[in-house]
Amino acid sequence: MASDKQDKQFVTEITPQSEDFSRWYIDVIKKAELMDYAPVRGCIVFRPEGYAIWENIQQEMDRRFKETGHRNAYFPMLIPESFFQKEKEHIEGFNPELPFVTEAGGDILEERLAVRPTSETMFGHMYSKWIKSYRDLPVLINQWANVMRWEKRTMPFLRTSEFLWQEGHTAHEDEKDAREETMRMLELYRDFVEDFLAMPVIMGQKTPSEKFAGAVDTYSIEAMMKDGKAVQAGTSHYMGTNFAKAFEIQYLNRDNELEFTHTTSWGTSTRLIGSMIMAHGDDRGLVIPPKVAPTQVILIPIGPPKMRDMVIERADALYAELKAAGIRVSMDDRADVRPGWKFNEYEMRGVPVRIEIGPRDIENGVCLLASRLGGDKLTVQLDNVVNDVKQLLDDVQKGMYERALEFRASHFHSVDNLDEMRAQMEEKRGFFLAGWCGSEACEDTVRAETGATSRNIPFDPQEHKTTCVACGEAAKHTVVFAKAY
Ligand SMILES: [Zn+2]
Repeated sequence: MASDKQDKQFVTEITPQSEDFSRWYIDVIKKAELMDYAPVRGCIVFRPEGYAIWENIQQEMDRRFKETGHRNAYFPMLIPESFFQKEKEHIEGFNPELPFVTEAGGDILEERLAVRPTSETMFGHMYSKWIKSYRDLPVLINQWANVMRWEKRTMPFLRTSEFLWQEGHTAHEDEKDAREETMRMLELYRDFVEDFLAMPVIMGQKTPSEKFAGAVDTYSIEAMMKDGKAVQAGTSHYMGTNFAKAFEIQYLNRDNELEFTHTTSWGTSTRLIGSMIMAHGDDRGLVIPPKVAPTQVILIPIGPPKMRDMVIERADALYAELKAAGIRVSMDDRADVRPGWKFNEYEMRGVPVRIEIGPRDIENGVCLLASRLGGDKLTVQLDNVVNDVKQLLDDVQKGMYERALEFRASHFHSVDNLDEMRAQMEEKRGFFLAGWCGSEACEDTVRAETGATSRNIPFDPQEHKTTCVACGEAAKHTVVFAKAY
């Protein structure tokens, strides 16, 4: 076992969350080797440990997209500047963030090419060629890609100039069908984030000032981080016929009349990695939900040198058994590293379950299971170990969701006016439920006075507020306000 001194030394390399949450976050993701800063400002390298998390997210989400009838395609990264001029709100929203290629092969290009920030325009252009008749609809395409937005303030995974994401773009015969798709994908995101990443989210509609540039309606899921701030974990947009009109996506309907399609788009990104870390991590490091963890179980053989061969032989068999059962297991049998150091190391890396096995355990036909969530170690029979490990992984997944739900409940406040909101925000972190009259001026006032922005208008608020938090007039909506990443 590690001495207390060794434990403390180890943990002091990570800034405590209560001291400086952002510092804690950077310490942890660097120490766990998830990322590193790239030479270009605002860009990061996804190191193998970090990319493996993304691959697991991608795999499961992709499976769910395909189950709901979507197919993948790949569209080019470079988009002619003129495409952005076609949808007025879209260009106004994205122009400040667009990087352009202006020169290639030694020549100045006739038309500047934008590095895609999102691909509505490119999909719109291609859909106008492909869609001719109602028989061609709906078109349900998703793309896994990188995108670029020239961000001024960056935070690894949460906001970087280049990031990885998926963007779904669909075209439909009418509003009803397109709106159903918008909600289907929002619900898919909610279920994925809650079930797979163990993060409870609030589903709702964005206010007009926070909606996607060019959308009719934008819906989001919002998650709470451990510093009480919000992260928008996914969005789904109903575009109406805005992009269809800009790109002439027209089709012959069932009465042989020419009509514009109704389109949607929806996206999630590598922000999910950052938000998962900020929602679950603790002062010892990462805590990764078993369903997404690249390593679910770390197996650590223990014992004096003279027993080593015997222990490793049994541990090897155990490793093979767990692996065969579909569990993502690793073994650390390095002889020159103390077990206590290893315990700390894999806790810091967020591995959900640790197995310790030593000579006496083998003699008794048992091994020890430790959960990343803490609590007593479990002694389990080696001949039933697969079931017990699966059960513990399940318990950790559920325990993480419940813990996050409790955290959110204890950081969820209800306020009636600005004075109250300001006073509460000085001493409390979290989300603030408040009434809103619907005017953008009142939203601006809240932002200016408190630093909180409207996150969304929840579909299912715990309480319906009756007066606007800023002006005191009758409230049209109940809104979640919070500081956000
Ligand atoms: Zn108001």
